[in-house]
Amino acid sequence: MNYLTQLHERCFSDCLEEVKTVAISGHIRPDGDCVGSCLGLCTYLLDQNPDLLVDVYLDPVPDQFRFLKHADRIIQENENQIVYDLCVALDCSEPDRLKPAGDIFEKAKRTICIDHHITNQGFGDISIVCPESSSASELLYYILKDQRLFGQGTISVDCAQALYMGIVHDTGVFRHSNTSLEAMTAAGELIGYGLNTEKIITDTFFKKTYRQNQLLGKALLESILMLDGAMIFAALYQKDFEIFGCDSADTDGIIDQLRVTEGVHVAMLLYELKEGEFKVSLRSDELVDVALIAKEFGGGGHIRAAGCTAYGQMHDIVTNIASRVESQLMEQEDKE
Ligand code: AMP
Ligand code: MN
Ligand code: MN
Repeated sequence: MNYLTQLHERCFSDCLEEVKTVAISGHIRPDGDCVGSCLGLCTYLLDQNPDLLVDVYLDPVPDQFRFLKHADRIIQENENQIVYDLCVALDCSEPDRLKPAGDIFEKAKRTICIDHHITNQGFGDISIVCPESSSASELLYYILKDQRLFGQGTISVDCAQALYMGIVHDTGVFRHSNTSLEAMTAAGELIGYGLNTEKIITDTFFKKTYRQNQLLGKALLESILMLDGAMIFAALYQKDFEIFGCDSADTDGIIDQLRVTEGVHVAMLLYELKEGEFKVSLRSDELVDVALIAKEFGGGGHIRAAGCTAYGQMHDIVTNIASRVESQLMEQEDKE
C-alpha cells in the first residue's frame, strides 16, 4: 500500500474549527523544503481566511527564498507571548530541532506534526510522518488536496510556487532517489497552477553568489578521499567563513558536488559551528544507510541524506563516522 492510500484511509477532521491564531514552524537552519512548506501552508490558510493570525517562526531565511508570498511574516520572537490555538511543525524530525518555536509548540492548544524524516517518532497531537514522501512540501500538497485537515481552501499560484520549490530542493531538482511517481505527480500538478518553473529552479537552487562559489572551490580543493575512494569528506572552519564573507547558509550545494565524485559511496561535509562543534552532513548512494549513522551521533534524517551535530576534534569525528561507513560497506560485501 503506498503512503497516499494510507493517508486517505486515516481519519481527519477540520483542525481549523474555532482556531483564530496559528503558528507555523520548521527546523533550525531552514532549507528550501522547510521554507516552502511553511510558507505554502501560511498562504493556503490566509487565502482561505484573511482574518486568521498566522505567524511563521523560522531562523532568518536565505535571500533567494524571500520572493515567496508571506516571507515577510517570518519572525523569530513571540513578542506578545501569544499562546496559539494551533501550531504546525513542518519538515522537522524532532522537537529539539524546531527553532525558534520549540516553546510555542509546547504551549499551543493543539499541535500538528507533518514530516518525511524516517527518524521522526511523531510529536504532535496529530502526526503525519511519511518517509516515502520526497519532501514535507509534497506531503503537505497531498494533505491540502485531500481537503479534510486544513479546511476546504484552494491552492493559489503563490501556494503552489512555495510547495513546488520545496519539492525541487529536497529532490535535488528531481535527481535524488526520492523522486518518486508521487513526487513527480505533485510537482506536475503544481506546475498546472501556472508556475515559472525555470525561474524557481535557477534562482533558488542553482544560482550561487561569487562568495558561495569560492567557498565551494575551497571545500572541493581540500576534500579528501578515504576508504579506498569509497568516501569523501571536506571540512570548513569559522575562519573560512570569515575569509570569504560567508555563513553556514552558503554551504548549500557543496555536499551535492562532493557526492557525485566517481567511486564515492558516502560524502561528508563538516562545518564548524563553534570551537569543538561541527555540523555534519552525510549523503550516500544505495549501499549505505546514513540515517543510521547520523542517529548514532544524536542526529537523524533520511537513508540517503542525513545529518548531526558532532563534538570534538574534526579528525576524531571523521575517523568515527568513517569506521561506521566502513562496517556498513563490509556488511554489504559479505552479502554479495
Ligand atoms: P543536511 O545535511 O543538513 O542537509 O540534512 C540532511 C537531512 O538530515 C535533512 O533532512 C535534515 O533535516 C536531517 N538532519 C540534519 N541534521 C540533523 C540533526 N542534527 N538531527 C536530525 N536530523 C538532521
Ligand atoms: Mn529540511
Ligand atoms: Mn525535507
